[in-house]
Amino acid sequence: MSFIIKCLDCGHNAPYYPTSTTCPKCGSQWREAEYDYELIGKTLPEKLKTRQKNLWRFRELLPVRNPNISLSLGEGYTPLIRAANLGMMLGCPNIFIKDERQGPTSSFKDRQAAVTIAALKEAGITEMVAASTGNVAIAYSAYASRAGMKLWAFVTSLVPSVKMREIALYGSQVIKITGSYDQCKQVAAEFARQRQLYLDMGARTITSIEAMKTIAFEIADQLTRALNEEGADAPLQTPDWYVQAISGGMGPLGVYKGFREMQQMGWTEKIPAFAPIQAEGCAPMVHSWKKGLAKAEPVTSPKTHIETLATGDPGRAYEFLKSHVDSTGGAFESVTDEEAFRAMHVLAKMEGISAEPAAGAAFAGLFKLIRAGVIKPSDTVVVNCTGHTMPAEAGVLGDNWSRDVKFPAPTEAPQEEGLLSALTQVAPERFPKIAIVEDTREARRLIRRILQAQGNFTILEAENGRAGLDLIQQELPDLVITDLMMPEMDGFSVIEALRSNPETATIPVIVATAKELTPDEKNRLGGRIQALMQKGDFLNDEFLDEVKSLLK
Ligand SMILES: *Cc1c(COP(=O)(O)O)cnc(C)c1O
Ligand SMILES: [Zn+2]
Repeated sequence: MSFIIKCLDCGHNAPYYPTSTTCPKCGSQWREAEYDYELIGKTLPEKLKTRQKNLWRFRELLPVRNPNISLSLGEGYTPLIRAANLGMMLGCPNIFIKDERQGPTSSFKDRQAAVTIAALKEAGITEMVAASTGNVAIAYSAYASRAGMKLWAFVTSLVPSVKMREIALYGSQVIKITGSYDQCKQVAAEFARQRQLYLDMGARTITSIEAMKTIAFEIADQLTRALNEEGADAPLQTPDWYVQAISGGMGPLGVYKGFREMQQMGWTEKIPAFAPIQAEGCAPMVHSWKKGLAKAEPVTSPKTHIETLATGDPGRAYEFLKSHVDSTGGAFESVTDEEAFRAMHVLAKMEGISAEPAAGAAFAGLFKLIRAGVIKPSDTVVVNCTGHTMPAEAGVLGDNWSRDVKFPAPTEAPQEEGLLSALTQVAPERFPKIAIVEDTREARRLIRRILQAQGNFTILEAENGRAGLDLIQQELPDLVITDLMMPEMDGFSVIEALRSNPETATIPVIVATAKELTPDEKNRLGGRIQALMQKGDFLNDEFLDEVKSLLK
């Protein structure tokens, strides 16, 4: 493919060699690939129609001359999944998850490893060095094994040991550094210099930035299909926001370039606003941006358990990312570890997606930006979601997450009876009955989901006020959750009817409504209900606390 490497500082153009990492004219390490956008913009769309759905379908826009398909592990084209339950909960219906967990090694680093290793292999390089907070080294290790390359992986001792073992499993040499990630990078660089080995340069690696931009190409294609029934022939759409947790910032730098190139090729009109999220204990970019600084103030001793996000000194990546955030109307945001873990748990319970804490940070950032009104209810949002849950599950779940079933000794009863009697141990108690009266199917599903995910309840549902009242009078539940605006009979009348019947007069009622109540309506409810929840702004824990306290 024809492309040149352009210096971002002096504008000098040079041909591409993976081993030459600086501008021959000014020495800058910040350079990027440039293609013939006019030509590719016109010719590529037709070719895309018949190409396989993987990262290499965009090969005209990647810095590998002859992509070697035998190295591929099927990277790219991860699903874009609508987060319907989260959207309901947050009052922001168009939230989409770019599910990078579904890549070959469960993180978006697969893209970087696939493209970088392909380029190195093409250049005849057989050994490389990378410093990593875990996921980069896992991805490089897998691809290096396929390509017959040796990887020296430098990781900080905080990287969970399951991740270290995965790196080693693929046959790479793991070197544990007791120190910060920034120190780990220094040791790796010195090791590579002494041995004259190729060193991964993080966000300054041309192939890595190029790999990340395929996320943007895929988002535009998939979002357009998701938002248009007709699909393929609709003009390409881009989201209003791209949200990602960041460490060194390589992901959003590459994704930005992807959206910019689509604009340069005349494929799309706008670049989304960027929301890079950091862990509060290591948020040099967020704090520098909030202070309006042009250069980042490094954090020398990061204090976060989310080791994936522990870059304390972002260097010039901050300057480039700041300019993209500012020019797109985006925002940097930070979240505490606790908020990230909680968001991770919410994501798993509400969407069936078990991600790693770093991705939890992205979702916690999303929640925060929606609550602050920075992301608007009508905005379309894509969140990058990545990987490995294992190291964190224990901390997130707490105790009491399983029920133990013991089989009686084999001689005591025939096997089937043994199984049945064992199962009676699973649910010996009577579960509290909760009636949901709600006309919108999605809202009923959301409330049911919140309840199911957090406790054992028998859940009854009715889709209008009249049916709800009948159900309640027949079943006498322990709690009623009702909407106000419904066909047949509205929630106000249901509540009045319940209160005037001695059998149902004391059943606690929670009103969950999307409506802003007038003072008159508040009066009508006054004293008759136990709680009022505004739909859209209830996150499940608050709601569940309310439910639990009413069932006592
Ligand atoms: C690498 C990684 C990040 C940080 O990404 P950068 O774009 O390199 O800052 C965030 N989350 C996960 C899960 C990662 O693997
Ligand atoms: Zn230069």
